[in-house]
Amino acid sequence: MTGLEDLARRRQAEAKRIRALLDGGHDARMADLKVGETAVAYVKEELCIGCDQCPLVCDDDAIDMVQRAMRSPLLELESNRKAVIRRDDCTGCGLCVMACPTDAIQMIDR
Ligand code: SF4
Ligand code: SF4
Repeated sequence: MTGLEDLARRRQAEAKRIRALLDGGHDARMADLKVGETAVAYVKEELCIGCDQCPLVCDDDAIDMVQRAMRSPLLELESNRKAVIRRDDCTGCGLCVMACPTDAIQMIDR
């Protein structure tokens, strides 16, 4: 049977591994962030978990949350929320990129 100490040790190791995965390359991506009027935000939908953080920080109201068909065979959900950028309203400030916990948003050339 698993003891409490063993469980805590395994949990700590797993948390460390997940944190390293989440942090991997994040600082470099932020350093290279291209912002301004020549840039526009773009969402990689496969990475978006529909957490609502990006529309919260977007002062220009340039992000819609939409329902997309769910493709996972593991979850019994018909749809999932995804962020979609309204390119014409996006001012290229980059705030949404910094707010996204899954690095689903990047700045691309307009
Ligand atoms: S870059 Fe700025 S204006 Fe454009 S969607 Fe992100 S937060 Fe909104
Ligand atoms: S912050 Fe990222 S994960 Fe959350 S809704 Fe926006 S794009 Fe999706």
